[in-house]
Amino acid sequence: MQELANFTSSLKLEPMKGLPESWQQIQAEWIENTVRVVGQSTSTRENLHYLVREFVHTTAQILEGGPLDLLDPILARWASSLTQTDLESSASDLMRFMGVLVTSALEALITHLEPATALVTYKALLPCFNYAYERLAQHEIEAKITYISNHLSEVQQRLERLDKSKSDFIAIAAHELKTPLTLVEGYTAMLREGLSQPNTDSGELTPMLDGIENGARRLRSIIEDMIDVSLIDNQLLSLNFQPVWLNHLFAILEREFQPAIAERHQTLKIHDFPGSHAVLMGDPERLLQAFRNLLNNAIKFTPDGGKIEVNGRELPGFIEVTITDTGIGIDPDDQAIIFEKFSRLGNVALHSSGKTKFKGGGPGLGLPIAKGIIEAHGGTIWVESEGYDEVHCPGSTFHILIPQQHPSLEGRVADIFASLTPTPTPSE
Ligand code: ADP
Repeated sequence: MQELANFTSSLKLEPMKGLPESWQQIQAEWIENTVRVVGQSTSTRENLHYLVREFVHTTAQILEGGPLDLLDPILARWASSLTQTDLESSASDLMRFMGVLVTSALEALITHLEPATALVTYKALLPCFNYAYERLAQHEIEAKITYISNHLSEVQQRLERLDKSKSDFIAIAAHELKTPLTLVEGYTAMLREGLSQPNTDSGELTPMLDGIENGARRLRSIIEDMIDVSLIDNQLLSLNFQPVWLNHLFAILEREFQPAIAERHQTLKIHDFPGSHAVLMGDPERLLQAFRNLLNNAIKFTPDGGKIEVNGRELPGFIEVTITDTGIGIDPDDQAIIFEKFSRLGNVALHSSGKTKFKGGGPGLGLPIAKGIIEAHGGTIWVESEGYDEVHCPGSTFHILIPQQHPSLEGRVADIFASLTPTPTPSE
C-alpha cells in the first residue's frame, strides 16, 4: 500500500480538466472490451453494445461536469432487465457486469494514455462507478424483495385454495357417499318390508336387490377413487407395465360406454389413428381407467345429441391421443385447476351421483386420477377449450401424450412385442 502511495505521489497527479484527447479511442475500446467479455451470442452482443455505449457516453458527460444522477435511467433499465433466474440466483449478474465494465475501462485507459493521465482519468471515473454500484445494488435488492413478496403471496393463495378445496372435498365426498348410502338404506328397508309380507313373489324383490347392488357399486367406486388419489399423491401408484395397444383399450371402452351413449343420444367416434395399433409399454388397467374418466367426462359435459371423438397421432417416441367433445367447454382460468385434486367446478349442492347424466357431478377426482396415471407413465395431459358456454357449447379437447417406451424399461421388451400384430378392433 505504501508503495502505491509513493508511486501515485511521485506521479504528481494533476486534477482532470475535461476529457483526455484520445477519449474517442478509449471509449470505443472500453465498449468493445466489455461487449467481448460479456456477450456470447450475436443477438446479445448487439443489445449489449447499445447498453454499454449509453453508459460510457453518459460517464463522459459526467466527467465534463454533469451530475451523477444522469446514470439513473440507464441503471434502472439494466435492473428492469433482470430475469426470474437472476432474481432467484444468489449471485448478482449486474455486479459482475459492472466488474467487467470497470476492468475494461482500466484496460482501455492504460492502452491509450500515459500512466499518470490514465490514473487521473480512472480516478475521475471512480465516482461514476461507485454511484453505479450503489444504485444497482439498491435496484437489485428492491427487485428481489418484490419478486419474493409476489412469490410469497402466490404461495399463500395456493395454500388458501388448497385449504378451501380440502373443505370442499369433505363436503363433496360426504354428499357423494351419502347419495348411494341413502339408496342402499331405502332399498334395504323396502326389501325388509317385502320379505315380511306373506306370499311375496321373489321376482318383486329383484329391483330392490338391484338398487342395493348399484348403491354399493357406486360407494365402492367413490372409495376406490379416494384411495387412488391418495396413492398418486404419495407417489405410491404402482404400475404393471406390459405391452398395450390403444385400439384395444378404446374398443373395450366403446363397448362399455355404448349404453350411456345411446341413452344420451350422443355419437362416439373412435378413429383408427396412426399409433393406435403401435405397441406401447404401459399398465392397461390404469390406462383404461384414465381414458374411462376422460370419456366419462366427455359424455357427462356434452348435451344430449352431442359428439365425442377419439383421435391421435404418432410422434417420435410418443403417441398423442385427443378426446374431443361438443360439450359446455372449460373456462381458460379453470383449465389448470381441474387437474388438481379436491377441486372441481360448480356448486357442491348441485352435484349428484349420476355417472353420465348431463353435468352430473362426481367427487372431482376423475381428472386428478387420469393425470396421475398418465404422469406415472412418463406422459402428460392438458386440455384445450375456448371457454365455458352452456348455450353455444364450444367443446373441449383433452390431449394425452404417452411415451411408447417407459424410460425405466428395457427397449428390447417393446421390440419383441412390436413384431406381434394385434387384431385391430377400432370402430369406423
Ligand atoms: P368430476 O367429474 O367428478 O366432477 P373430474 O375431476 O372428472 O371430476 O372433473 C373436474 C371438473 O372438470 C368437472 O367437474 C367439470 O367441471 C370439468 N370438466 C372435466 N371434463 C370436462 C369436459 N369434457 N367438458 C367440460 N368440463 C369438464
